[in-house]
Amino acid sequence: MRKNIIAGNWKMNLNRDKGISLVKNVLNRLSFESNTDVIFAPSYVHLDQLVKMCSEVSNVYVAAQDCSFSDKGAFTGEVSAEMIASFGVQYVILGHSERRENFKETNQLLKMKVQQALANNLNIIFCCGESLGQRNRKEHFEFIKLQITESLFSFSEADFSKVVIAYEPIWAIGTGVTATSKQAQEVHSYIRGIIEDKYGKQVSDKTSILYGGSCKPQNAVDLFSQEDIDGGLIGGASLNEDDFVSIINSF
Ligand code: PEP
Repeated sequence: MRKNIIAGNWKMNLNRDKGISLVKNVLNRLSFESNTDVIFAPSYVHLDQLVKMCSEVSNVYVAAQDCSFSDKGAFTGEVSAEMIASFGVQYVILGHSERRENFKETNQLLKMKVQQALANNLNIIFCCGESLGQRNRKEHFEFIKLQITESLFSFSEADFSKVVIAYEPIWAIGTGVTATSKQAQEVHSYIRGIIEDKYGKQVSDKTSILYGGSCKPQNAVDLFSQEDIDGGLIGGASLNEDDFVSIINSF
Protein backbone atom coordinates (compact mmCIF):
# COMPACT_ATOMS: atom_id res chain seq x y z
CA MET A 1 0.00 0.00 0.00
CA ARG A 2 1.29 3.45 -0.81
CA LYS A 3 1.60 6.34 1.57
CA ASN A 4 -0.65 9.36 1.78
CA ILE A 5 1.53 12.43 2.08
CA ILE A 6 0.88 16.11 2.71
CA ALA A 7 3.96 18.28 2.20
CA GLY A 8 3.98 21.98 2.97
CA ASN A 9 6.27 23.99 0.70
CA TRP A 10 6.87 27.27 2.53
CA LYS A 11 8.89 28.71 -0.39
CA MET A 12 10.67 31.89 0.78
CA ASN A 13 8.23 32.66 3.59
CA LEU A 14 8.22 32.70 7.42
CA ASN A 15 10.99 34.03 9.64
CA ARG A 16 12.42 32.11 12.58
CA ASP A 17 9.67 32.79 15.13
CA LYS A 18 6.80 32.45 12.69
CA GLY A 19 8.14 29.17 11.33
CA ILE A 20 8.66 27.66 14.77
CA SER A 21 5.25 28.77 15.93
CA LEU A 22 3.51 27.29 12.87
CA VAL A 23 5.20 23.92 13.30
CA LYS A 24 4.51 23.84 17.04
CA ASN A 25 0.82 24.56 16.49
CA VAL A 26 0.41 22.06 13.65
CA LEU A 27 2.17 19.30 15.64
CA ASN A 28 -0.17 19.94 18.59
CA ARG A 29 -3.17 19.34 16.37
CA LEU A 30 -2.05 16.18 14.55
CA SER A 31 -4.07 13.07 15.20
CA PHE A 32 -2.03 10.11 16.39
CA GLU A 33 -4.28 7.73 14.48
CA SER A 34 -3.59 9.39 11.15
CA ASN A 35 -1.93 7.32 8.45
CA THR A 36 -0.84 10.41 6.58
CA ASP A 37 2.81 11.44 6.46
CA VAL A 38 3.30 15.16 7.01
CA ILE A 39 6.33 16.95 5.60
CA PHE A 40 7.45 20.51 6.32
CA ALA A 41 9.63 22.06 3.60
CA PRO A 42 11.04 25.32 4.94
CA SER A 43 14.00 27.40 3.76
CA TYR A 44 17.42 25.94 4.55
CA VAL A 45 17.88 28.15 7.62
CA HIS A 46 14.97 26.45 9.40
CA LEU A 47 15.98 22.86 8.71
CA ASP A 48 18.05 22.15 11.82
CA GLN A 49 15.43 23.51 14.21
CA LEU A 50 12.55 21.75 12.46
CA VAL A 51 14.32 18.39 12.48
CA LYS A 52 14.77 18.80 16.24
CA MET A 53 11.08 19.64 16.66
CA CYS A 54 9.79 16.80 14.47
CA SER A 55 12.22 13.95 15.10
CA GLU A 56 10.20 12.46 17.97
CA VAL A 57 6.87 12.75 16.19
CA SER A 58 5.82 9.75 14.14
CA ASN A 59 4.89 10.30 10.49
CA VAL A 60 6.32 13.83 10.44
CA TYR A 61 9.35 14.67 8.30
CA VAL A 62 11.36 17.65 7.09
CA ALA A 63 12.33 18.48 3.50
CA ALA A 64 14.74 20.92 1.93
CA GLN A 65 13.32 22.83 -1.04
CA ASP A 66 16.34 22.14 -3.25
CA CYS A 67 19.93 20.90 -3.19
CA SER A 68 23.03 21.49 -5.25
CA PHE A 69 23.92 19.46 -8.35
CA SER A 70 27.47 19.18 -6.96
CA ASP A 71 28.81 17.36 -3.93
CA LYS A 72 31.04 20.24 -2.83
CA GLY A 73 33.24 23.03 -4.08
CA ALA A 74 33.35 26.69 -5.06
CA PHE A 75 29.61 27.26 -5.49
CA THR A 76 28.85 30.24 -3.26
CA GLY A 77 25.32 30.13 -1.88
CA GLU A 78 24.70 26.50 -2.76
CA VAL A 79 23.85 23.77 -0.24
CA SER A 80 24.83 20.17 -0.89
CA ALA A 81 22.65 17.10 -0.38
CA GLU A 82 25.31 15.77 1.99
CA MET A 83 25.01 18.88 4.19
CA ILE A 84 21.22 18.60 4.20
CA ALA A 85 21.30 14.91 5.12
CA SER A 86 23.86 15.56 7.86
CA PHE A 87 21.21 17.58 9.74
CA GLY A 88 18.82 14.62 9.77
CA VAL A 89 16.59 15.96 7.01
CA GLN A 90 14.74 13.12 5.25
CA TYR A 91 13.44 14.66 2.00
CA VAL A 92 14.37 17.15 -0.70
CA ILE A 93 12.03 18.78 -3.22
CA LEU A 94 13.55 18.84 -6.71
CA GLY A 95 12.34 20.36 -9.96
CA HIS A 96 9.76 22.79 -8.59
CA SER A 97 8.48 24.87 -11.51
CA GLU A 98 9.65 28.06 -9.81
CA ARG A 99 13.18 26.72 -9.89
CA ARG A 100 12.82 25.43 -13.44
CA GLU A 101 11.56 28.87 -14.54
CA ASN A 102 13.50 31.34 -12.40
CA PHE A 103 16.77 29.43 -12.17
CA LYS A 104 16.64 27.71 -15.55
CA GLU A 105 16.82 24.20 -14.13
CA THR A 106 16.75 21.63 -16.92
CA ASN A 107 15.88 17.94 -16.84
CA GLN A 108 19.61 17.18 -17.19
CA LEU A 109 20.59 19.40 -14.25
CA LEU A 110 17.80 17.84 -12.20
CA LYS A 111 19.14 14.38 -12.95
CA MET A 112 22.41 15.48 -11.33
CA LYS A 113 20.52 16.77 -8.30
CA VAL A 114 18.58 13.50 -8.07
CA GLN A 115 21.90 11.66 -8.15
CA GLN A 116 23.23 13.79 -5.29
CA ALA A 117 20.09 13.29 -3.22
CA LEU A 118 20.13 9.51 -3.72
CA ALA A 119 23.83 9.29 -2.93
CA ASN A 120 23.03 10.87 0.42
CA ASN A 121 20.01 8.71 1.12
CA LEU A 122 17.49 11.54 0.84
CA ASN A 123 13.95 10.85 -0.32
CA ILE A 124 12.92 13.02 -3.25
CA ILE A 125 9.73 14.89 -4.02
CA PHE A 126 10.14 15.33 -7.76
CA CYS A 127 7.93 18.02 -9.32
CA CYS A 128 6.63 17.98 -12.86
CA GLY A 129 3.86 19.76 -14.69
CA GLU A 130 2.91 21.71 -17.76
CA SER A 131 2.18 25.33 -18.62
CA LEU A 132 -1.27 26.43 -19.75
CA GLY A 133 -0.02 26.81 -23.32
CA GLN A 134 1.24 23.23 -23.35
CA ARG A 135 -2.09 21.98 -21.99
CA ASN A 136 -4.05 23.98 -24.56
CA ARG A 137 -1.86 22.54 -27.31
CA LYS A 138 -2.41 19.07 -25.79
CA GLU A 139 1.33 18.63 -25.31
CA HIS A 140 1.14 18.13 -21.55
CA PHE A 141 1.38 14.34 -21.45
CA GLU A 142 4.50 14.23 -23.63
CA PHE A 143 6.09 17.12 -21.72
CA ILE A 144 5.56 15.45 -18.34
CA LYS A 145 6.81 12.15 -19.68
CA LEU A 146 10.02 13.83 -20.82
CA GLN A 147 10.52 15.55 -17.44
CA ILE A 148 10.18 12.24 -15.61
CA THR A 149 12.09 10.12 -18.12
CA GLU A 150 15.10 12.41 -18.50
CA SER A 151 15.58 13.14 -14.80
CA LEU A 152 14.54 9.90 -13.12
CA PHE A 153 14.47 6.87 -15.38
CA SER A 154 18.19 6.14 -15.51
CA PHE A 155 18.11 5.16 -11.84
CA SER A 156 17.64 1.67 -10.46
CA GLU A 157 14.37 0.35 -9.08
CA ALA A 158 15.81 0.57 -5.54
CA ASP A 159 16.73 4.20 -6.10
CA PHE A 160 13.34 4.99 -7.62
CA SER A 161 11.64 3.67 -4.48
CA LYS A 162 12.90 6.84 -2.76
CA VAL A 163 11.00 9.07 -5.19
CA VAL A 164 7.61 10.69 -4.66
CA ILE A 165 6.19 12.47 -7.70
CA ALA A 166 4.36 15.80 -7.39
CA TYR A 167 2.21 16.73 -10.37
CA GLU A 168 1.99 20.51 -10.31
CA PRO A 169 0.41 22.17 -13.35
CA ILE A 170 2.15 25.53 -13.58
CA TRP A 171 -1.11 27.31 -14.35
CA ALA A 172 -2.49 26.21 -10.98
CA ILE A 173 0.45 27.17 -8.75
CA GLY A 174 -0.24 30.21 -6.61
CA THR A 175 -3.00 31.31 -8.99
CA GLY A 176 -6.06 30.22 -7.05
CA VAL A 177 -7.04 28.10 -10.07
CA THR A 178 -7.03 24.41 -9.18
CA ALA A 179 -7.02 21.56 -11.65
CA THR A 180 -10.34 19.75 -11.40
CA SER A 181 -10.10 16.40 -9.70
CA LYS A 182 -10.83 14.81 -13.10
CA GLN A 183 -7.96 16.71 -14.79
CA ALA A 184 -5.58 15.84 -11.97
CA GLN A 185 -6.62 12.18 -11.84
CA GLU A 186 -6.13 11.87 -15.60
CA VAL A 187 -2.51 13.03 -15.35
CA HIS A 188 -1.78 11.05 -12.17
CA SER A 189 -3.02 7.89 -13.80
CA TYR A 190 -0.87 8.65 -16.87
CA ILE A 191 2.21 9.18 -14.64
CA ARG A 192 1.55 5.90 -12.84
CA GLY A 193 1.33 4.24 -16.23
CA ILE A 194 4.73 5.46 -17.39
CA ILE A 195 6.26 4.35 -14.08
CA GLU A 196 4.68 0.93 -14.61
CA ASP A 197 6.09 0.75 -18.15
CA LYS A 198 9.57 1.45 -16.81
CA TYR A 199 9.71 -0.27 -13.40
CA GLY A 200 6.69 -2.61 -13.37
CA LYS A 201 3.36 -2.64 -11.58
CA GLN A 202 4.67 -3.41 -8.11
CA VAL A 203 6.77 -0.25 -8.15
CA SER A 204 4.12 1.95 -9.76
CA ASP A 205 1.51 0.79 -7.24
CA LYS A 206 3.84 1.78 -4.41
CA THR A 207 4.81 5.23 -5.75
CA SER A 208 3.01 8.12 -4.07
CA ILE A 209 1.91 10.78 -6.54
CA LEU A 210 0.94 14.14 -5.03
CA TYR A 211 -1.08 16.94 -6.56
CA GLY A 212 0.04 20.56 -6.18
CA GLY A 213 -1.53 23.79 -7.34
CA SER A 214 -3.87 25.93 -5.24
CA CYS A 215 -4.87 22.96 -3.12
CA LYS A 216 -6.94 24.17 -0.16
CA PRO A 217 -9.39 22.80 2.40
CA GLN A 218 -12.28 23.43 0.01
CA ASN A 219 -10.95 21.15 -2.75
CA ALA A 220 -8.65 18.73 -0.89
CA VAL A 221 -11.27 16.06 -0.11
CA ASP A 222 -12.38 15.87 -3.72
CA LEU A 223 -8.80 15.71 -5.04
CA PHE A 224 -7.62 13.12 -2.52
CA SER A 225 -10.59 10.87 -3.15
CA GLN A 226 -9.27 10.17 -6.66
CA GLU A 227 -7.70 6.75 -7.13
CA ASP A 228 -4.23 7.94 -8.14
CA ILE A 229 -3.92 11.06 -5.98
CA ASP A 230 -2.02 10.20 -2.82
CA GLY A 231 -1.85 13.61 -1.23
CA GLY A 232 -0.63 17.09 -1.96
CA LEU A 233 2.30 19.44 -2.20
CA ILE A 234 0.83 22.55 -0.64
CA GLY A 235 2.20 26.06 -1.10
CA GLY A 236 0.15 29.03 0.13
CA ALA A 237 -2.22 27.01 2.31
CA SER A 238 0.70 25.40 4.19
CA LEU A 239 1.49 28.78 5.75
CA ASN A 240 -1.85 28.88 7.52
CA GLU A 241 -2.22 26.54 10.49
CA ASP A 242 -5.97 25.95 10.14
CA ASP A 243 -5.80 25.36 6.40
CA PHE A 244 -2.80 23.04 6.60
CA VAL A 245 -4.32 20.92 9.38
CA SER A 246 -7.61 20.77 7.54
CA ILE A 247 -5.84 19.55 4.37
CA ILE A 248 -3.94 16.92 6.39
CA ASN A 249 -7.30 15.67 7.66
CA SER A 250 -8.85 15.51 4.19
CA PHE A 251 -8.34 11.80 3.47
C1 PEP B 1 3.67 24.85 -4.75
O1 PEP B 1 4.36 25.84 -4.79
O2 PEP B 1 4.20 23.74 -4.74
C2 PEP B 1 2.21 25.04 -4.72
C3 PEP B 1 1.46 24.00 -4.97
O3 PEP B 1 1.76 26.29 -4.43
P1 PEP B 1 0.23 26.71 -4.17
O4 PEP B 1 -0.39 25.67 -3.29
O5 PEP B 1 0.32 28.03 -3.46
O6 PEP B 1 -0.43 26.81 -5.49
